[in-house]
Amino acid sequence: SNDYRVVVFGAGGVGKSSLVLRFVKGTFRESYIPTIEDTYRQGHAFILVYSVTSRQSLEELRPIWDAIKETKGAELEGIPVMLVGNKCDEGGEDGAGGAREVRPEEGEAEAQRWGCKFMETSAKTNHNVKELFQELLNMEKNR
Ligand code: GDP
Ligand code: MG
Repeated sequence: SNDYRVVVFGAGGVGKSSLVLRFVKGTFRESYIPTIEDTYRQGHAFILVYSVTSRQSLEELRPIWDAIKETKGAELEGIPVMLVGNKCDEGGEDGAGGAREVRPEEGEAEAQRWGCKFMETSAKTNHNVKELFQELLNMEKNR
């Protein structure tokens, strides 16, 4: 079949809808329209999103990741997974002068523990958004 399902997980407000909107339509909205998230786990690829401005949003991903591992088991080896720190436009690389709570190295370390890839993005500035979806496809091809 021609459909390719990417399942996006993460706490409310981290920018899941914005990343998808940016990728699919090339647009960004400042207003927050909360959505009832689809927790459907039949994905071809998983994106786990936190906001670099919220350490809690990273912590909230851990039980989600555990649940995915438990549900998917060995099947997970064939599924591209990316840990994404979104809103990287909010605050400097070193955490100085911004609202940043999670440094890139911490996201990277978490991804290493999980055995997945890591990227920081901004749906607002369009930083790494195309690259995120492209990388998932590359992981798909290279496996
Ligand atoms: P969701 O609940 O995870 O789907 O989050 P949304 O996509 O609805 O975004 C929540 C809020 O964060 C909205 O006000 C967005 O405009 C804002 N937002 C989303 N992505 C970014 C980003 O990359 N940078 C900044 N500064 N704000 C963002
Ligand atoms: Mg949403």
